[in-house]
Amino acid sequence: MRKTKLNIPNMTDKKELSQSVYFTTNLICNLDCVYCYEHDKSDRSTFKIEEAKRTLFKTLNNVTKKGTLVNFHGGEPFISFDKIRELCEWAWAQNFPERFTMFATSNGTLIHGEIKEWLYENRHRFIVGLSLDGTREMHNINRSNSFDKIDLDFFVKTWPKQSVKMTVSPHTIENLAEGIISIHRYGFHDIRANLAEMVDWSSPRYKEIYARELAKLSKFYLENRNLQKCSLFSVNFSSIANNVVRKWCGVGTEMTAIDIDGRSYPCHLFFDSVCGKDKSQAIIKIDFYNPKAYTSKKCTNCQFLPVCPTCYGANYISRGDIAERDWNMCELHQIRFLEVARFEAQKIISESSIISNLKPEERYKRLQILKGIQMILPELNTNES
Ligand code: SF4
Ligand code: SF4
Repeated sequence: MRKTKLNIPNMTDKKELSQSVYFTTNLICNLDCVYCYEHDKSDRSTFKIEEAKRTLFKTLNNVTKKGTLVNFHGGEPFISFDKIRELCEWAWAQNFPERFTMFATSNGTLIHGEIKEWLYENRHRFIVGLSLDGTREMHNINRSNSFDKIDLDFFVKTWPKQSVKMTVSPHTIENLAEGIISIHRYGFHDIRANLAEMVDWSSPRYKEIYARELAKLSKFYLENRNLQKCSLFSVNFSSIANNVVRKWCGVGTEMTAIDIDGRSYPCHLFFDSVCGKDKSQAIIKIDFYNPKAYTSKKCTNCQFLPVCPTCYGANYISRGDIAERDWNMCELHQIRFLEVARFEAQKIISESSIISNLKPEERYKRLQILKGIQMILPELNTNES
C-alpha cells in the first residue's frame, strides 16, 4: 500500500459542501440492525450505472461554490462494490469542472481484501463513515453480532478525521456512557451519536437512564478536556440566546437522493421502499423551504427549538407530517440540553481565570453561550442575583 501524507477531511460536515447527491446502491443488507427502517430488504437489485453516470454528468458539469458530495447509500453499499468502483473510476477520469468527493456510510463488515485495498488507494477521494454502536456488547446487540467483522484500526488510520456514527437504541441506552468512552479508546476523535428514530422511547425509565448516563459522560469530559466531545454534547447555546431557528438537514433543499431506479427524492427516507408508495407520491405537496411546513406548532414557542434536532423523514414515516416529532424523544432531548448546559456552565466557570486573557471575539462567544445557558438554567440566574 502507498504511503502518502494526505489531508483527508471529515465528510459528515456537509455544510462544508454546497450540495449532496445520494445514490441508493442496493436495498439489501448483510445485517439486520434492531432500529433499521428499511423494510424492503428482499430486493436483490442494484443501482443502474448508466443512469447514475448521466446524473453525475449533469451535476458535476455545474460548478458550485463549495463542491458536491456524492454519497452511496444502501442497504450496505459495499454489496455493490463492483458498480461503485466502476462509477467512481469513470467519474474521476472525466475531469469534471466541479469539485466532488465520494462518500459511503458502511457497517464495515465487507471492508476487507480487494475492497480495503481499493479504498486505501483512493482514501483522499472516497471516504467511508463507519457505523459503530459502542462497546463490543452494545454493537452486537444493535448490529447483528458484527463487531468482530470490522477492522477498526483500518478506519482509524485511513480516515483519521472522519466521524463514526453511533446509534443509541432502547436496548443499549443503559450503557451509553461506556459506549462513547470505548469509541474514544478505539482511537476515533469525532463521534456522532444519536437516539434511534422510529423506535419506542415511551417507557418513563429511559428518562432516568439517559440523565444518569449523560451525567457520567459530563464527568468524563470534564476530566478529559483534550478530547473532542461527542455530538450529544454539542449544543449551540448561543443560538438560543439569539433565537436562531434553522432546518436541521438539507432534505428537499440541498439534497437529492436517487433510488435504484433513478428517481429523485428529498432524501432516502422518502423512497417508496421506505415510507410506502402513497406517502412517497404525496411528497410533491411538501414545501421544504417553508419553516411552517417543517416546524410543529407545539415547538414554535419552545425555548429549545434552536438546538433541538429532528429527522423530518422519520416524522413523515411515523406521523405523516415532516413537522410532527416523536414526543417521547422531546422529553429526552430536554434532559440532554439541561445536562449539557450544566456541563458548559461548569466548564466556563472553572475557566473564568483565563477569560481576561482571551481575545475579545472569544470572550464575546463565551458570553453568548452563557447567555443561552442562563435562559434555560434558572439556578444560574438565581446564583447571579
Ligand atoms: S424540546 Fe420538544 S417542544 Fe421543544 S423544540 Fe424540541 S421537540 Fe419541540
Ligand atoms: S430527513 Fe432525516 S434522514 Fe433525511 S437527511 Fe434529514 S436527518 Fe437525514
